[in-house]
Amino acid sequence: MMSTEYNLDDEMRMLLKTVRGFMKDELYPHEDMVDSKGFVPEEIGRQIEKRSKEVGLFAANLPEDVGGGGLSMKAMSLIEREYGKTSHALHSWIARPTELLLACEGDQIERYLKPCVTGEKRELFALTEPEAGSDAMGLKSHARRERADWVLNGSKHFISGPCMPDFAIVFAATGMDETRRGPRKRVTAFLVDVGTPGFEVSEGNRSVSYRGYKTFQLHFSDVRLGPDQILGEEGRGFELAGQWLTMGRVWVGASCCGKAERIIGMASEWAASRRQFGQPIGQFQGTGFKLADMAMGLRMGDLLVADAVVRAEAGVLSDADVSMVKLHCSEMVNRVADDCVQIYGGMGLMEELPVQRLWRDARLERIWDGTSEIQRHIISRSILRPLGA
Ligand SMILES: Cc1cc2nc3c(=O)[nH]c(=O)nc-3n(C[C@H](O)[C@H](O)[C@H](O)COP(=O)(O)OP(=O)(O)OC[C@H]3O[C@@H](n4cnc5c(N)ncnc54)[C@H](O)[C@@H]3O)c2cc1C
Repeated sequence: MMSTEYNLDDEMRMLLKTVRGFMKDELYPHEDMVDSKGFVPEEIGRQIEKRSKEVGLFAANLPEDVGGGGLSMKAMSLIEREYGKTSHALHSWIARPTELLLACEGDQIERYLKPCVTGEKRELFALTEPEAGSDAMGLKSHARRERADWVLNGSKHFISGPCMPDFAIVFAATGMDETRRGPRKRVTAFLVDVGTPGFEVSEGNRSVSYRGYKTFQLHFSDVRLGPDQILGEEGRGFELAGQWLTMGRVWVGASCCGKAERIIGMASEWAASRRQFGQPIGQFQGTGFKLADMAMGLRMGDLLVADAVVRAEAGVLSDADVSMVKLHCSEMVNRVADDCVQIYGGMGLMEELPVQRLWRDARLERIWDGTSEIQRHIISRSILRPLGA
């Protein structure tokens, strides 16, 4: 039994049973087809969407008072862990709308938040730009005020989702603030509808991780936005983005643990059954020790995720705590995937087996939601800053 399951109550066990049954029926059967085609056929995506609503998994992360599933963070960590076992291209059809939308006020609630909960609308989270990746503050998208309106210009790339969105949450500079450390961009989050004059969305580069999960390029050319299209407060966009990135990184960690568990299962079976020199290859220390390290890395990942959930519930989760989860789990699943290929030998690279797909999928985890280097930077700053360095 996996390390996170020994102390689950009946409700959590039921939830896991539902998620696993759903994945067995609706997601796993499509994995190979989606990876080889490089896209999720629309009818399959819509079927996942529909069935996930029927079993109560759609928008399960959002509170019940807005129509969501109202699941606890612990429950979400278990769900994300299960989803991590398969492709993002498939499980992203089970919407977990960004919690940023809870900042919607007045008409925005009916226009953006509720339709995302019911599945009538899909959103994108648009922060990254061609020249501003890790250095998010380097963003060039900007909006200037014209009387009560805002006029948005700029572009974004790598903005991902399962299908063509209905609107994007777009981060753009709306001025400069003087701070103790010098001038700092004021960044504001805007809700921008697809179809607004001057706003173009097109499919972007195709990733070899999670083939079929789409990235979009967004271009804004004098896009006129009303004051009611600001999400949260003007100039407070990064604070909003930070809130979402925080738990998002924990969910990435949970999902990496799920993927690692699946890969370890494959590696162990192969190590126990593939024979060379008259014995199972797992009996060679070079293979058996890999399995031991894999299991220990996974256990540590699960504990870090569980610890982050407890800290979040207690309101004491720091950025460095979150970075440790994201960093450890994403690097761990990459080591596990690479060692699994090694244990399979040549077969590990063959398209006929899923090992190479999981290895490709794992690679993205060290890059998105903040690269490993950025996570190390956050952790080291938390150590050095109190010392004045
Ligand atoms: C499939 C996919 C989906 C994505 N989805 C979204 C999305 O929905 N919304 C969104 O906004 N973004 C999204 N992203 C963007 C993602 O978050 C960025 O790719 C990531 O933050 C890294 O930025 P970059 O690719 O520009 O790399 P760069 O920032 O150019 O980094 C390149 C290398 O330089 C290193 N580096 C950079 N700065 C430092 C530093 N200070 N110290 C040490 N090393 C450093 C990095 O660690 C990395 O190794 C997605 C990306 C991909 C690939």
